[in-house]
Amino acid sequence: TTSFGIEEALEKLGIKDLNHGTSTGNKWFPGGEEIASYSPVNGELIGKVTTTTKEEYEQVIVSAQKAFLSFRAMPAPQRGEIVRQFGNKLRELKQPLGKLVSYEMGKSLQEGYGEVQEMIDICDFAVGLSRQLNGQTIPSERPGHVMREQWHSLGIVGIISAFNFPVAVWAWNTALAWVCGDVCVWKASEKAPLCSVACQNIIAGVLKENNLPEGISSIINGDYKVGEMMTTDTRIPLISATGSTRMGRTVGAKVAERFGKSLLELGGNNAIIITPTADLKVVVPGAVFGAVGTCGQRCTSTRRLIIHESVYDKVRDAIVGAYKQIVIGNPLDEKNHVGPLIDKDSVDTYLKAIEKAKAEGGKVLVEGGVLEGEGYESGCYVKPAIIEAENSFEIVQHETFAPILYLLKYSGDVENAIDLQNGVAQGLSSAIMTNEMKEAEKFLSFAGSDCGIANVNIGTSGAEIGGAFGGEKETGGGRESGSDAWKVYMRRQTNTVNYSDELPLAQGIKFDL
Ligand code: NAD
Repeated sequence: TTSFGIEEALEKLGIKDLNHGTSTGNKWFPGGEEIASYSPVNGELIGKVTTTTKEEYEQVIVSAQKAFLSFRAMPAPQRGEIVRQFGNKLRELKQPLGKLVSYEMGKSLQEGYGEVQEMIDICDFAVGLSRQLNGQTIPSERPGHVMREQWHSLGIVGIISAFNFPVAVWAWNTALAWVCGDVCVWKASEKAPLCSVACQNIIAGVLKENNLPEGISSIINGDYKVGEMMTTDTRIPLISATGSTRMGRTVGAKVAERFGKSLLELGGNNAIIITPTADLKVVVPGAVFGAVGTCGQRCTSTRRLIIHESVYDKVRDAIVGAYKQIVIGNPLDEKNHVGPLIDKDSVDTYLKAIEKAKAEGGKVLVEGGVLEGEGYESGCYVKPAIIEAENSFEIVQHETFAPILYLLKYSGDVENAIDLQNGVAQGLSSAIMTNEMKEAEKFLSFAGSDCGIANVNIGTSGAEIGGAFGGEKETGGGRESGSDAWKVYMRRQTNTVNYSDELPLAQGIKFDL
């Protein structure tokens, strides 16, 4: 019994009961084994997707290599025009695609629509960028010489994505890669394969209308073994991989071994520092949305609150109070705030983390647990938990991809809070809540947050596409999306041109013949 217009959405997106999971555009390949995609919303089978065989993978890469040769010759603003049309198709299909994201992955419908909006936003950004892939001119030390830098298309971009942003991560990469003249091969998460089929259907329509060849946008499906075909493949100069630190450790090493480039977007362990002057009106929604939004399954989810002892009781009570208002249930029903976890393995991990925190001496302030009964049949719905803990607990040092929020106390200066904030292996997102200018600036300084994202008076969760997105340390160091993140999708070439009649050498070296 699917409801909330899911069947209609699937039809609009061209999703069938059994779908081919391998495509080079408008050509689809039969594939091997099947992956069944069950909705965490109600436990029902949504559809199946066939996985990519070794032989099909070869055909996909050969087709991509061929397409690259013509696509890179197309002027960048014309490639931008293709991305503009793609963005418009996404505008038309925002409702059904957002619904599929929500139904296959379990995030709230608003967040599902929000994810598609991010795709639209990055398309707009990329269209403008297609006229701004500028290099620089550089003064030469030699008379009659000029130096400049050019950015050339790179080749095939291999994209490996996580389940929690099953469509946006692909678009963040492809929209930029395409205007840069690259072609893309995407291996979606095996936990949300239907999203990849829907996305491929959308772009395939645009490519067809523009008479563009096969191989500009390809999808492959399957688990890490299919991902490994790409990471070890020297024909793919860039692998952009989003997922756990465990995955990144393997993928990064494999790609480095063959001197490929990798863009790694891995796990976070994000904290908000709450200082004595923090405004509770800002703190409470920022912290609560950050901790329970997407059921704690965002890479930027708030996992730790680092609260000054002078305001600790007040902040704790306000947050605990706010948790009482949270409504958990079918994410397609807009009255619910929190949907399910992705699957039962994830529920196990969540339960174990709570047990571990207790065993290490944590004090539970808001009890967790799995919800049962009507509406919770999938077994994936859990209660967001709050635990008083220490930063040194082993479990606090790890990212648990679930709604568990740890409250930590600090005393004295903001430096002490910054030490706690930085005292984990991950370095994605961070925030400080303060009305003290000096505290805010210290937090943003070289001696402040060591994360790729550092915010003042907003939470850790969610980012706009205009900025570069990513983090340091075990988060992998990659940057995607806005600012100059496009440069990773291109190769840099330094040119020196001599327009004089002499050949002076650099550094004044004499070489008389
Ligand atoms: P995961 O690491 O289990 O899987 C991610 C992807 O990697 C999947 O497509 C998987 O098939 C593939 N993969 C796994 N091992 C591989 C290997 N050895 N070779 C090639 N491919 C391999 O992650 P998940 O559970 O889907 O997602 C949750 C994780 O993703 C969290 O840690 C979260 O913080 C992180 N994440 C990070 C960002 C970011 O931008 N920093 C964004 C979203 C999610």
